[in-house]
Amino acid sequence: MTTTAYEPDPNRPEQGPATGFDVAGRPVGEGFTLIAGPCTVESREQTLAVADVVAAEGASMLRGGAYKPRSSPYSFQGLGCEGLAILREARERTGLPIVTELLDVRDLDDVCATADVVQVGARNMQNYPLLTELGRTDRPVLLKRGLSATLDELLMAAEYVLKEGNERVILCERGIRTHETAYRFTLDLLAVPALKERTGLPVIVDPSHAPGRRDWVEPMSLAAAAAGADGIIVEVHDDPDNAVCDGPQALPAADFAGYAERVRRVAEAVGRDAPLPV
Ligand code: PEP
Ligand code: MN
Repeated sequence: MTTTAYEPDPNRPEQGPATGFDVAGRPVGEGFTLIAGPCTVESREQTLAVADVVAAEGASMLRGGAYKPRSSPYSFQGLGCEGLAILREARERTGLPIVTELLDVRDLDDVCATADVVQVGARNMQNYPLLTELGRTDRPVLLKRGLSATLDELLMAAEYVLKEGNERVILCERGIRTHETAYRFTLDLLAVPALKERTGLPVIVDPSHAPGRRDWVEPMSLAAAAAGADGIIVEVHDDPDNAVCDGPQALPAADFAGYAERVRRVAEAVGRDAPLPV
């Protein structure tokens, strides 16, 4: 039976039950999944330092972009293939599966050769050729909600991947554009129960990009766990003040242990097993 995301289209296959799935030996959608790591892979030292900390504190996977969608074309765009090689080394060293973004369909083979989960960023949520190509791979896809996308649009975007036979899609709420200007984006936590009512796909929350400020990342993380999210993808840096990208919102690696413990407690309070420090 095919797991599909969305109901109204009469041409879509029969809907499967709400199920999680396995990513590199780790279940997603059952217990609470904690994905952590830098916004971008800046260097071998930085990536391995963060990877060591998050692995020790029970993270389920390591995040880090080698191809970055930046608002300015003059900003750092990512280390590309060199960044992917660093991520492979981090996986070998820590055992953590890698979540990394695919920006351009021309990089599909390179990214799929490294990624355990391929992230499709908010700006690419409706890049249908990219989603279709990912649907033809065996890589799980972490699909972020577009900046102005409705939940219907997110679910239909997921359908482009599912339709090709790739049933492993993780949906991610990361904040949307509203009239509010007091923070970068409005984190729409109501998306968690609303999506879960309509799809069996795992739903996670990115608490980093909406606040854009690290002191608001933890409250949003705890709220996401309380709302029933299947996990969190959070940005962590060993030296946030000197981060190349998204430093103000990055949790300092030195604070990650306490953060992970508090998130774990909320996840457990709502009945989810959460990963323990090793
Ligand atoms: C990111 O995860 O670093 C990122 C760029 O996310 P988004 O696509 O949600 O902006
Ligand atoms: Mn980022």
